[in-house]
Amino acid sequence: MQTNEREFRQAQRFLTEHDNFLVVAHVQPDGDAVSSTLAVGWLLSCLGKKYVMVNEGPIPKRMEYLWEADKIVNLSSAPLEAAYSHIICVDCADFRRTGKSSQYFAENAEILNIDHHPTNDGYGTCNLIVPHAAATVEILFDLIAFMDLNLDKDAATLIYTGLLTDTGGFRYSNTTPKVMATASKLLEYGVDGPGLSELLLEQMTLPQLRLLTRALNGLQISEDGKISWVSVNDEDLRVTGAIHEDLEGIVNYPRNIQGVEVGLLFKVISENAVKVSMRSAGKVDVARVAQSFGGGGHVRAAGARIEGTLEEIVPQVLDRVKLQL
Ligand code: AMP
Ligand code: MN
Ligand code: MN
Repeated sequence: MQTNEREFRQAQRFLTEHDNFLVVAHVQPDGDAVSSTLAVGWLLSCLGKKYVMVNEGPIPKRMEYLWEADKIVNLSSAPLEAAYSHIICVDCADFRRTGKSSQYFAENAEILNIDHHPTNDGYGTCNLIVPHAAATVEILFDLIAFMDLNLDKDAATLIYTGLLTDTGGFRYSNTTPKVMATASKLLEYGVDGPGLSELLLEQMTLPQLRLLTRALNGLQISEDGKISWVSVNDEDLRVTGAIHEDLEGIVNYPRNIQGVEVGLLFKVISENAVKVSMRSAGKVDVARVAQSFGGGGHVRAAGARIEGTLEEIVPQVLDRVKLQL
């Protein structure tokens, strides 16, 4: 039984008592965000509920195999006709992470906020936040069991995908005994574990590899060898033919250098905005650093969108990281 049974019961009530939901995950969705969106859709379809799954932009191509992935509406190319009164947000640490999807939240809409980020500010009407969960899908796995619904291979593949990607292939410190026990149960449903690892963690497209090479060419490291960073702009994407989702994983390279405590990736979004991804070897709580810039995340993996030029932002972020070292 869950220790936070009350939150689970409230989430169950939110799902059973209402109908016609909008299901939303964070902008530029990763494996956990996409899988959580679809797992909520799967759960709602078991309950016979109406729902629409959306994201501000497209979902990564390599996730198109997932159950009903083609049903996630890309709002940048297909706007909705109406606003919704019942919203389910997954994997969004704060309200702004829903991006342009929030345009379709009715005034006074009720929000069910399901998330695993310790920095989540509880923006929902109903909050199911489990900071020790490795991924949002882990919470959904527990919610599905709590509601006495029977998993099938499709749903098991969704949960497995979110666990696999948010734990970096069952390697990061969030890979708890519970994660491994859950993964074991999911494999019993016939999930193709090695196939998913190959597709999601091993394979690269040629443009992706070219982008990585180009980014690593500009890798920098602090004098004491404890902070290393790379930066990428739209020109880099254009020259290599890469797309936004190809940025995933680049930040691990500076972090993986022996002796480095914090690895950073700066992605120039526009003339006056930069997205920074932060990864820690363990000593520095990068969620705190990200939060000081209005972002959030986990102790070892966090991010923020910061206003300013690359030249302004890089020294600011380095200074704040140094304060934590
Ligand atoms: P990323 O660097 O985008 O892979 O994100 C690393 C972690 O930080 C993930 O758990 C994200 O959900 C979280 N994160 C990234 N950007 C933000 C942000 N602007 N606000 C809150 N959390 C974020
Ligand atoms: Mn995520
Ligand atoms: Mn997540």
